[in-house]
Amino acid sequence: MDTASRSSLVTSGAAGQPIPLAAVRARTTRQGVVAWGSHRVTVGGDAPVRVQSMTNTDTADAVGTAIQVKELALAGSELVRITVNNDEAAKAVPYIREQLDRMDIHVPLIGDFHYNGHRLLTDHPACAQALSKYRINPGNVGRGDKGDRQFAQMVEIAARHDKAIRIGVNWGSLDQDLLARLMDENASRPQPWEARQVMYEALITSALESAKRAEQIGLNGNNITLSCKVSAVQDLIAVYQALAQRCDYALHLGLTEAGMGTKGAVASTAALSVLLQQGIGDTIRISLTPQPGEARTQEVVIALEILQALGMRAFVPSVTACPGCGRTTSTTFQELAKQIDDYLRSSMPVWRERYPGVENLKVAVMGCIVNGPGESKHADIGISLPGTGEAPAAPVFIDGQKAMTLRGDDIVREFQGIVDNYIEKKFGVTV
Ligand code: SF4
Repeated sequence: MDTASRSSLVTSGAAGQPIPLAAVRARTTRQGVVAWGSHRVTVGGDAPVRVQSMTNTDTADAVGTAIQVKELALAGSELVRITVNNDEAAKAVPYIREQLDRMDIHVPLIGDFHYNGHRLLTDHPACAQALSKYRINPGNVGRGDKGDRQFAQMVEIAARHDKAIRIGVNWGSLDQDLLARLMDENASRPQPWEARQVMYEALITSALESAKRAEQIGLNGNNITLSCKVSAVQDLIAVYQALAQRCDYALHLGLTEAGMGTKGAVASTAALSVLLQQGIGDTIRISLTPQPGEARTQEVVIALEILQALGMRAFVPSVTACPGCGRTTSTTFQELAKQIDDYLRSSMPVWRERYPGVENLKVAVMGCIVNGPGESKHADIGISLPGTGEAPAAPVFIDGQKAMTLRGDDIVREFQGIVDNYIEKKFGVTV
């Protein structure tokens, strides 16, 4: 680049002006409440973006389902959805609630209904009462007048029991009559929209028309959450951006059928991050297909990580670790980073009560002198391990100051002790 072009680059930008801070846009949705007994979880408005998940047990197995709900709740899920697909499942719901209450697991249960929800909720009032929220899929309530009646029946039960609902539209089970109507309308346009755009419109129209009907039937609009789930990242972004512009209902966000492992995690993160940054999404769920042997709680872990990475919420102390490179050929720092991360996460169920605010702690574990001391100084506690050829010493930084140097084979245990002491001093509640 010649000097003239370089100087025009500098002077044509906002040189000399501070670069604006990145900020998550504020959400402007209404706030509703998901309640059970004396417990309440707010959703929407200025409530934190809520994390939810869904069991994959047979709901009729009340014990197995209660155990999985407990695992999901302890992992950080603030609402848990269970499928209610037949009479046996509906009968089990009050027992699941009872067992959770007995275990002091204060998480609301959302019933997921398709096809027969009107009948199950009518035939099983104890189930209708034990659930805190009903998910209704307008594409699966029946067609025509019959569908309208069955939808109304579910909403009336929700209103009578003072329950919240989610109108959960999914492109895999879209209201076919509505889609056909919109396709016909599109065909008569001078310049027809693309088929995908008609599908977007059908998703949003289905959600909005259903919400309007639910309010006309008597449900408080604050207790209506909407979702329009699709399985492709760009489609999800387009649909939710439009949906957010056209209503102020709380929005449930998630990429449906995200897939397995890394693919599912990355696709969900990509889609949700864009929308959350724009202030879109009041509650999120990661629809991850568990890999064989993988815990169901993984979907909760990813949801928490997304919110924490965006700086929207803090759930566990964060560990900053460098990726390692040719300057540190030993695996010591990888092991230390993993052990510290595992230790912090596994301690959180106890620490959450004992050390309020501990989730904001920042720990750095670095591999060598290049970025080690600098990054460690930015953390609450940081350790810079010796790279290849460096003196076998690991300086530890506390609140930006070098506090000590660790040597020898016991660095991991000693560093863990330093972290413990720091947490006790900084977050311990003095009585
Ligand atoms: S801190 Fe050192 S070991 Fe870690 S990535 Fe940077 S140069 Fe490599």
